[in-house]
Amino acid sequence: MITYNGKGVYGAIAIGHVSVYKRQDAAVTRIEITDKEAELKRVEDAKAKATEQLQAIYDKALKEVGEENAAIFEVHMMMLEDDDYNDSIKNIIEAESVNAEYAVSITSDNFSEMFAAMDDSYFQARAADIKDISNRLIACLSNNDSGSTSSDEKVIICADDLAPSETVSLDKEKVLAFVTAFGSSNSHTAILARNMNIPAIIGVGEEFLKSIKDGDFAIVDGFTGEVFVDPDEDTLAKLTKKQQDDIAKKKLLQDLKGKENITLDGKKIDIFANIGSVDNIGAVLLNDAGGIGLFRSEFLYLENDDYPTEEQQFEAYKKVLESMAGKKVIIRTLDIGADKQVGYFNLDKEENPAMGIRAIRICLTRQDIFRTQLRALYRASVYGHLGIMFPMITSVSEVKKIMEICDSVRADMRVQDIPFAENVEHGIMIETPAAAIISDQLAPLVNFFSVGTNDLTQYTLACDRQNPKIEPFVDTHHEAILRLIKMAAENAHKHGAWIGICGELGADTTLTETFLRMGIDELSVSPSFVLKVRDQVRKLDLSK
Ligand code: PEP
Ligand code: MG
Repeated sequence: MITYNGKGVYGAIAIGHVSVYKRQDAAVTRIEITDKEAELKRVEDAKAKATEQLQAIYDKALKEVGEENAAIFEVHMMMLEDDDYNDSIKNIIEAESVNAEYAVSITSDNFSEMFAAMDDSYFQARAADIKDISNRLIACLSNNDSGSTSSDEKVIICADDLAPSETVSLDKEKVLAFVTAFGSSNSHTAILARNMNIPAIIGVGEEFLKSIKDGDFAIVDGFTGEVFVDPDEDTLAKLTKKQQDDIAKKKLLQDLKGKENITLDGKKIDIFANIGSVDNIGAVLLNDAGGIGLFRSEFLYLENDDYPTEEQQFEAYKKVLESMAGKKVIIRTLDIGADKQVGYFNLDKEENPAMGIRAIRICLTRQDIFRTQLRALYRASVYGHLGIMFPMITSVSEVKKIMEICDSVRADMRVQDIPFAENVEHGIMIETPAAAIISDQLAPLVNFFSVGTNDLTQYTLACDRQNPKIEPFVDTHHEAILRLIKMAAENAHKHGAWIGICGELGADTTLTETFLRMGIDELSVSPSFVLKVRDQVRKLDLSK
């Protein structure tokens, strides 16, 4: 067995035989010509043929990988019409009296080198697109067909690199996996592989290419980026099991998509997702979450060297709200402090930061920061259904103060004619024992509660969540925690508020029944747990 390592770009396992991708690379030779006009005409004819081919590839991609991913072939068609690219070909033919193939080949080298030298990884990846369209043009000039594989069975395609058009042109039904010696994870080939749901590994290196042959037996682990050629029995058994588990998991995912979160006796619950960055929205949609129950806005502060501006925040919140298309999005105001330290906040060093100036305590003492965030949130509210949630609440006076500040921010915006939605919901996190115990007094002040079981556990059990040594003492199912949640649920409902759980405990399926019986209205969990929790909800019968 030989193991090669590359970068997995789509997590799945493939087991099967290898087919080495054969490309009929036309060896371009420099030929002196006399009839330049005829050569330019050849270029025009080849361009027309290449465009026709790209249109067919675009149509195939549209069906297989969707509009967004097919768009690259529209870009290729546009690149073929690019003035600089065409002028270069024309100039070389006219100035050097050479054949069209040679002029295209030199232009391709020049342009792709220019892109490859750019700092931005997006533009670097475009070098491959230039080569792709140029090779197509040369093939059309020489009447060559593009590459192929020799096999009829489903195979693992191995290549030096695959151009986007080559990737899409392959018959998806015959491809088990892609493995390339080179390539970048930013390339469209990688993106297409991901969207075709085909395990793919890139960058396994030149050695792999030299030794791999048609018919070799191999395993591709797209999760780890490993390729096992001629695997031993142990590896085969281990990876076969991993493949089966993965298929079962994905099947569960597929089967449950679009289904309701409803128990056998008809009780419904919302299952939302927790995110920490705008980039996580894809996972939220993929896993069919009904909304976002906790957007930890800290990332905006943590990834900046200075306070994020109102505009920066507005753009981020707007993007999340628009992407969720009217589904509820609960954005939590900043929860800096304790384990999330940000230098430019210049917070004093504290003996016990978890019980120090963190979260809402910063917002109430540094209201300029708070008001900037609230303005950005209210401005974004017109783009969807927004809920604003405040962390680390311990008292009624805090909540009253928060609501006063919210009123004052909205009043300013009214005067300035800045629109905001009237249906913004306001809620608080129940993550201190104090908040749970006085939840009867807090509930009338808000629209919802969201239980932060991570902090509620640490503060109730006096167990530092940052200290791994304390883990043996942490009983996440501790009766004290469950009683506090139940108390908060009863008080919320008494006063017309709804209650969710956004701490990690929300995804603990051994407690789903307990939470439903308490009357919890929403569970907000990591995107990858949404369907697992849905599965559990749909198995429960609360009438028994
Ligand atoms: C929690 O405390 O349970 C929670 C959801 O907030 P965080 O983990 O961000 O403190
Ligand atoms: Mg918390």
